[in-house]
Amino acid sequence: MTDTTLMSIPGQVDPVPVARDITPREDGRVDLMGIPRTRIREIFAEAGLDDRQAKLRAKQVYHWLYHRGVTEFEAMTDIAKTMRPWLTERFVIGRPNIVEAQHSSDGTRKWLLQTDDGHDFEMVFIPDADRGTLCVSSQVGCTLNCTFCHTGTMRLVRNLTPGEIVGQVMLARDALGEWPKGKMDFGGGDATDEESQESQAEYRADGRLLTNIVMMGMGEPLYNFEHVRDALKLVMDGEGLALSKRRITLSTSGVIPMMERCAAEIGVNLAVSLHAVTKSVRDEIVPLNKKYGIEELLQACADYPKASNARRITFEYVMLKDKNDSDADAHELVRLIKHYGLPAKVNLIPFNPWPGANYECSEPDRIRSFSNIVFDAGISAPIRTPRGRDIDAACGQLKTTAQKKSRAERDREAAASA
Ligand code: SAH
Ligand code: SF4
Repeated sequence: MTDTTLMSIPGQVDPVPVARDITPREDGRVDLMGIPRTRIREIFAEAGLDDRQAKLRAKQVYHWLYHRGVTEFEAMTDIAKTMRPWLTERFVIGRPNIVEAQHSSDGTRKWLLQTDDGHDFEMVFIPDADRGTLCVSSQVGCTLNCTFCHTGTMRLVRNLTPGEIVGQVMLARDALGEWPKGKMDFGGGDATDEESQESQAEYRADGRLLTNIVMMGMGEPLYNFEHVRDALKLVMDGEGLALSKRRITLSTSGVIPMMERCAAEIGVNLAVSLHAVTKSVRDEIVPLNKKYGIEELLQACADYPKASNARRITFEYVMLKDKNDSDADAHELVRLIKHYGLPAKVNLIPFNPWPGANYECSEPDRIRSFSNIVFDAGISAPIRTPRGRDIDAACGQLKTTAQKKSRAERDREAAASA
């Protein structure tokens, strides 16, 4: 088990230690992915365009980037032919590098990705009948060492940049073939009204696969607050990826000082990894609890919807056999939620095992009994079906290279003992 006594818990003013600086591109070009439109305009002006040109080109490029998914300036057909090489010399439109793409038998897809400076991270796409959810990572690894989570056992941690975070959404759209075809219109320009209506209609067409985003991949998003905020702003921007904030959920293990800022500056739905109702159990399985306790956390949850207009908070509760899954735990959960007057829903997550984990998943009957108690108190408590377990894509199984190595080792051992 992880030795939590050696763990340093970073606080609000001391966010995650960044293992190393982001290496600048060797060719000296600037990656525009993840940069806000106003900043693109400034960068274009700094590179020599006059104000009017910088504004126009920033607007065009931004639209091609996020509405059309274009990665080459040459494809930006409404930008003068002579201008395109000027852009290509100075800028690039990046995507995370794909190391490996896997498909689960249940339709779940997982991508092992890599930053330009060689760090691995993962994203997962989970298709359902009525929606498609992309599970996005915010960090390489995680500093928080929750004892049931495989990501928490990764040593190296680096915050992902806004470009690497929004880049996951871009990559998913690329892979799913979800960029609109047809004529381009960025409002104004040369397009007629009819043409612009046509391209709008196409862009908003129903039947999209990717409809929801959850910040539930690797990492603690509130320990990389500013980058996550800037990336989600691009995702929510009507001129950008235009995904409604109601379709975005950020999951935190309970970084209380950042929850208020999350409400005010991002305003997406919040999921809180509660996982236990007593101090002793939560201290053990979510060590951050020693710093930010349950009562304080629930009060911050009570304040969140008012500040963000989110409808309700989702509590995540991993079902660990004989640890946090008794009827008494369920009753205490109900009591706490009622005591703080929380508009809440509880997601019960069957524990997903990983090699070396010290826990077992609760029995199905136990989970059902827990769910019924919460449900009978008038609180929705669905049991989440694990997805993509065969490709290690389920909650808490993301770990990348180290995990792959240990699996290769296990395979070798199996072969040797056969
Ligand atoms: N760091 C954030 C978001 C990423 S984890 C957080 O902790 O909320 C997304 C969810 O998966 C969290 O609720 C997390 O506690 C849960 N989880 C982690 N490991 C798990 C495992 N092995 N089985 C089931 N759920 C797990
Ligand atoms: Fe980090 Fe979340 Fe895993 Fe805890 S559950 S170690 S906070 S990713």
